[in-house]
Amino acid sequence: MITETITPELATALNKFIKAFGEVDTVGDLAPALSCVEVDYMADLFRAAGQPEAADAWKADHEAAEGPCDCTDTDDDE
Ligand SMILES: [Zn+2]
Repeated sequence: MITETITPELATALNKFIKAFGEVDTVGDLAPALSCVEVDYMADLFRAAGQPEAADAWKADHEAAEGPCDCTDTDDDE
C-alpha cells in the first residue's frame, strides 16, 4: 500500500516502470491483453507521472483491439 509519502526507492521503481511500459511496442503488445479497468488504472498512472501521451496510447491500443468499451468512460469514481 502506497501512502502519500513516496520513498526514493518507490520513485526509482516507478520511473523504471514508466519508462519500460511507456514504450510504444510494449503498449501495443500489452494493452489488448488487459481488461478495461486495468488499462484505465495504467492510464491513470501514466497521467499522474506526467506522461499523458502514453496514457492515451494505452487506451487507444486497448480500444483498437477490443472496440469501444468501458475504458473510454472517463468518469471519476474514486
Ligand atoms: Zn476495454
